[in-house]
Amino acid sequence: MKGAVLYGPRDIRYVERAEPKIIEPTDVILRMSATCVCGSDLWPYRGIDARSQPTPMGHEYCGVVEEVGAAVKTVRRGQFVVGSFFASDNSCAICQAGYQSRCVHAEYVGAGGAQAPLLRVPLADGTLVATPELPPDELIPGLLAGSDVLGTGWFGADAAAVGPGKTVAVVGDGAVGLCAVLSARQLGAERIIMMSRHAPRQNLARAFGATDIVTERGDEAVAMIKELTAGLGAHSVVEAVGTQESMMQAIRCTRSGGHVGFVGVAHGVEVPGQELFYAEVHLHGGPAPVRRFLPKLIDLVLNRKIAPGKVFDLTLPLEQVAEGYRAMDERRAIKTLLLP
Ligand SMILES: [Zn+2]
Repeated sequence: MKGAVLYGPRDIRYVERAEPKIIEPTDVILRMSATCVCGSDLWPYRGIDARSQPTPMGHEYCGVVEEVGAAVKTVRRGQFVVGSFFASDNSCAICQAGYQSRCVHAEYVGAGGAQAPLLRVPLADGTLVATPELPPDELIPGLLAGSDVLGTGWFGADAAAVGPGKTVAVVGDGAVGLCAVLSARQLGAERIIMMSRHAPRQNLARAFGATDIVTERGDEAVAMIKELTAGLGAHSVVEAVGTQESMMQAIRCTRSGGHVGFVGVAHGVEVPGQELFYAEVHLHGGPAPVRRFLPKLIDLVLNRKIAPGKVFDLTLPLEQVAEGYRAMDERRAIKTLLLP
């Protein structure tokens, strides 16, 4: 089969790769229904996360189970499944507490390179959630979103303690930030402020439930959030970028006693201790335990209560994966859907 491989900065190729095989008896092999390019794929793509050797890319996936390992108990051949980018046993103490992304047996599913027609998923019983029947094609983008971008946005909102009556601010207008807006709406937030200066993203944020748009950045954005919240700051702030500037913007937008949910993969972020001390905010985040939220998210998509698939504004055949990365890198696309 062919699959996407990163050879160096901005050098993605669709090349011949070995087909994945069952390695552990708890594995399954999926035939991909759809996959996509993640904002976090852009870190290695831009050479910020250096790779020492050609690396298969992609960690967002949904598809039909093609082959099942001998020890797999609940997942069956022919089922449509969605899973997280981290495989988990879903049974250890950390999983039971809802932190499957840090499972004691966690394995990075993306190591197998999901931007390909076939993917090995370890710990299948703990990792994958099956739909009751094969979903219609038009719901596949929304179900795929559950694999990472929606699950991550939802975790950001959950970690920021979003709830009824709360004012929420979202830093980052990528697909995760947009999904955080959608999640905050579902979780009953009263007011949702999206920080964005790009018209198509502002429009999607409004469609997902944003009530206000702030176009300022940095200190000016903080001042604007304070102005919109009687000088106090937001109750809940989702950080969905991962830079020093975005993290400090998120902390400074949060009122004392409030919560920051940070889900942008941190790069060079250093939080000054004294400022954190006097900010008196809750900080919670990290790689999203998507598996915790997947059953609910799949249900919301199948019942057409949410349409997170709208974050995909570019659809390409898998063999044009390089153009998919370029379009996101140049911010011509919010998120690229790839069809095998
Ligand atoms: Zn576990």
